Amino acid sequence: MIAWYGMALDQAVVNRPVKAKLYSKIVDSVECTACSRYCRLKPGKTGFCGVRKNIDGDLYLLVYGLPAAINVDPIEKKPVLHMYPGARIFSLSTVGCSFACQYCQNYDISQRRTITGYHYDPEEIVEEALSMGCQGIAYTYNEPSIFMEYAHDIGVIARRHGLINIFVTNGFETPEAIDYARDFLDAATVDFKGNASDEFYRKYISVPSARPIFETLANLKSAGIHVEVTDLVVPEVGDRLEDARTMLERIMDILGEYVPISFLRFHPDYRMMDLPDTPVETLRKHHDLAVSMGFKYVYIGNVPGYGENTYCPNCGNLLIERFVFSSKVIGLDRNGRCKKCGYDPQIPLMKEKRADYIS
Ligand code: SF4
Repeated sequence: MIAWYGMALDQAVVNRPVKAKLYSKIVDSVECTACSRYCRLKPGKTGFCGVRKNIDGDLYLLVYGLPAAINVDPIEKKPVLHMYPGARIFSLSTVGCSFACQYCQNYDISQRRTITGYHYDPEEIVEEALSMGCQGIAYTYNEPSIFMEYAHDIGVIARRHGLINIFVTNGFETPEAIDYARDFLDAATVDFKGNASDEFYRKYISVPSARPIFETLANLKSAGIHVEVTDLVVPEVGDRLEDARTMLERIMDILGEYVPISFLRFHPDYRMMDLPDTPVETLRKHHDLAVSMGFKYVYIGNVPGYGENTYCPNCGNLLIERFVFSSKVIGLDRNGRCKKCGYDPQIPLMKEKRADYIS
């Protein structure tokens, strides 16, 4: 059984690399196909994320069965706001990441390049999630596509036990990775940063372009996976409304007007301690822009008590009331329609779970 919660970075490691599924062989290298960096690795080399390595001509995942952080979180913390309000979600990460965000709040995990954690097989993760009374599992805190094979094996077992599976992701999955995730993935929160400006991605994340993230949105949608979007608005360097407009136009084209969008407040961390928290006024302007463009569900995140509730787009009735990470379904009936006007708000509450949260 799992004996700890939180981080296990100083735990002894049983390092048992497992052969990856997402890669192809090319001449004297392998090409990793888990994320859009498509690292080409010669024998002995490890990818940008630090957890996928060419060993004797094959690609191995170094963190299979090796979570570095585990917690039980409310689903609202992911945030997944339109799927299973109030659910308890067993949340885990490994070390490593495909991004190098200079403000990462989990940098001790994500930017760590030594393999560390505490050994747990997929079955043990699911057992623990069930014993903690969770309704789902989230792969979060670092980028889950880098440990996709581990997530896949947990997720398939979890689904068999009636648990939902959630990715909190930077959106850099390849089409091959999304295809592999169809077996188990129910929902993904795709996190944009700095209004998806390529300049921001290059300078503060070490990623050449945000373009692959939009392709991921389309691939998730066509795989039937519920998608929500966040955008971290970074004051002074990633808060331009013209960039936000371009990002929102592309999201609208791909996902339509009912996708939930949360504009998140930045908090200084890691190597970007010199910036202030995002002013609420800046977040409000982003919110209002999205509303003016026709999005039905626009939220503000990391500002307690502000921009958190869900209202009926037709009559304005309060549908879901939230405060920080708690929520209550108030205005929806058992068919998911507005109790006041009968409108279908296109909120895909888990049909088979509705009895859990609708009275
Ligand atoms: S998952 Fe890691 S090794 Fe694979 S392409 Fe992305 S950064 Fe490179």
